[in-house]
Amino acid sequence: MERLTSPPRLMIVSDLDHTMVDHHDPENLSLLRFNSLWEHAYRHDSLLVFSTGRSPTLYKELRKEKPLLTPDITIMSVGTEITYGNSMVPDHGWVEALNNKWDLGIVKQEASNFPELKLQAETEQRPHKVSFYVEKSKAQEVTKELSQRFLKRGLDVKIIYSGGMDLDILPQGAGKGQALAYLLKKLKTEGKLPVNTLACGDSGNDAELFSIPDVYGVMVSNAQEELLKWHAENAKDNPKVIHAKERCAGGIIQAIGHFKLGPNLSPRDVSDFLEIKAENVNPGHEVVKFFLFYERWRRGEVENSEAYTASLKASVHPGGVFVHPSGTEKSLRDTIDELRKYHGDKQGKKFRVWADQVLATDTTPGTWIVKLDKWEQDGDERRCCTTTVKFTSKEGEGLVWEHVQQTWSKETMVKDDSSWII
Ligand SMILES: [Mg+2]
Repeated sequence: MERLTSPPRLMIVSDLDHTMVDHHDPENLSLLRFNSLWEHAYRHDSLLVFSTGRSPTLYKELRKEKPLLTPDITIMSVGTEITYGNSMVPDHGWVEALNNKWDLGIVKQEASNFPELKLQAETEQRPHKVSFYVEKSKAQEVTKELSQRFLKRGLDVKIIYSGGMDLDILPQGAGKGQALAYLLKKLKTEGKLPVNTLACGDSGNDAELFSIPDVYGVMVSNAQEELLKWHAENAKDNPKVIHAKERCAGGIIQAIGHFKLGPNLSPRDVSDFLEIKAENVNPGHEVVKFFLFYERWRRGEVENSEAYTASLKASVHPGGVFVHPSGTEKSLRDTIDELRKYHGDKQGKKFRVWADQVLATDTTPGTWIVKLDKWEQDGDERRCCTTTVKFTSKEGEGLVWEHVQQTWSKETMVKDDSSWII
């Protein structure tokens, strides 16, 4: 969050399973559409927050399976754990707040009186969250009885039933909604209250997100019955909450447009990438566009035309250099020539490219450094290169690529680097 010097333009707070991530879409198309839009138009001045019921262990597993961006803030275990940045630094103030009228031992002891409750995996049991599975038909009764027992023992807890099977017991002050309220308050104290906040969800534990004042909300088209029921009973007349027509991340993009929160055209929805015009010169845009073009080129989804190579060549410096992650140096122009051989080599294959954490800084007037993680999914293999691009711009001439350097990221295991072009 330190990178932001002023209030973020938009803060998106999104659930993951069946909201940001569509588990029925093996191609992850709506997620990839969202990713391009976010990196293209929002990353530099906005905040991305994931708010999930998953524990840190299961959250990290999902990140390995799906092309998720790196959020600025991660809220896990149903709003009981808040962390910041890549290194996921925990918020100790939040931990302190959750200790109020909470006793893990008593919660486990009382819950053990209910044979209907099946304890979830050990990784899902957290300091401020105890999680069970329970059949839909039994959920209401168990919740009622448990609440009474906890009250008698002097605890103030919250019981959330979600996804038609998960029953979570949390401190009263916890939950996705309270975590968001805490975050907004903290950002306000720092002078960084977002101009707009959009909450996105699909199930019961997301309902709280839509109750926070001044927050826009979207229930994705595939939202669960329990959330729609909550909405009908509690928020039907709130024009700030909509039920999207599109599934998952597609619904989030739709809501950005509906509430007029900023650009809502994903570069992935533009067939001719050369036509995308940004409002301001931003080298981050160039990079997102280029890697999207690169994906389409290798998938054979753009025409093998001289116009493209000529346009690319015109945007690189004649003496521009590309440092391949293997350490080999080539001229940028030769790299473009080489690219021609690979047109359509991934046609019909599982091949996707996405940019994460695109951040541009202008070091000296007319010079920009763009840093990003460039990801490539090739069949079942996924690789990432930390990529640095130096651009120069001359008045009226647009941006010129001067230097590109890539190094394998820590989590990438490289067996063979020959198929990595750029
Ligand atoms: Mg969900």
